[in-house]
Amino acid sequence: MRNEPDKVDLVRCIPFIFLHLGCLGVIWVGASPVAVGSAIALYFLRMFAVTGIYHRYFSHKTYSTSRLGQFLLALWGGTTVQRGPLWWAYHHRHHHQHSDEPEDAHSPHVHGFWWSHIGWITSRRNFPTDYTKVKDLAKFPELVFLNRFDVVVPIVFATAVFFVGRALEHFAPQLGTSGPQMLVWAFFVSTTALFHGTSCINSMAHLMGRRRFATSDDSRNSFILAIITLGEGWHNNHHRYQSATRNGFYWWEIDPTYYGLKLLSWTGFIRDLKPVPQSVLDEGARAEHAASVAAAQKASVVHPEYSALKKVMPAAAAIAIATVPVANHHAAPQPRPAVHRDATETTQEPQ
Ligand SMILES: [Zn+2]
Ligand SMILES: [Zn+2]
Repeated sequence: MRNEPDKVDLVRCIPFIFLHLGCLGVIWVGASPVAVGSAIALYFLRMFAVTGIYHRYFSHKTYSTSRLGQFLLALWGGTTVQRGPLWWAYHHRHHHQHSDEPEDAHSPHVHGFWWSHIGWITSRRNFPTDYTKVKDLAKFPELVFLNRFDVVVPIVFATAVFFVGRALEHFAPQLGTSGPQMLVWAFFVSTTALFHGTSCINSMAHLMGRRRFATSDDSRNSFILAIITLGEGWHNNHHRYQSATRNGFYWWEIDPTYYGLKLLSWTGFIRDLKPVPQSVLDEGARAEHAASVAAAQKASVVHPEYSALKKVMPAAAAIAIATVPVANHHAAPQPRPAVHRDATETTQEPQ
């Protein structure tokens, strides 16, 4: 299947059509605060599973846990309805190896926005998992089982959501919800939003935002995407250094997934969270400074007060130039090395 042509397969579209049509159920089931609240809560709880589990654990192994802990994480990840942990990790590692190259399954630059957002998942070519590329995960039969039968967890999850609604209808009728209403909101609406939120990283995070690091791809950092995806929006940071548990490298880069993982580490459930190396932080600081100076120099051409200030107080002018916010990052073109990985990252590359 990996050698088949890359095109939309109608059979593979059925789950997505089903998921989106399920949202239309709101016309018949109505809404209640508990149903809408559950949809929002399950969006964030499962976005945490996408980013903190499928991405930062299974794809990059940025922290450790026990074998039982790993299995429980895989179950939690399964509720996201984004296929099995090995399929997810394989495709994501492949993305890092071939980012924005023709081999990349979901590059908006190579294949266009809609292909990178949803089309690629409907291609038969991207359906199988290449177990040879995720050997570190394929040695656990329980993970291979969850990956092979990846519909089991979503079906159990949807059924549980339905019966929670039924129970609330019976035991707390004042909440005004029901089994079908909870199914539509907390499963269909929440899962559809979760899918598009996650897909924004494949499509938008290589188009929208600033580039701090001159990586060999076109990954970007975006505050808006970081909010939608609980911290994954710092995608350029992540492409620069994949092995760290955090994607927000500095305190002002909000990364709720990292905060959640930090909390979990205090319980002992997970451990060995990996930091960002000081050399990478220093490189980021230098890049910010260079961009800042370049922007200020460009601004001084337009705003002569900088030049005037330079004549009177050279030191003050230097500080003003160095600290002015970046007006136009594109003003500072930087070399783009072909390979930009640390030794610690290459050790995590699939064998
Ligand atoms: Zn990327
Ligand atoms: Zn990654």
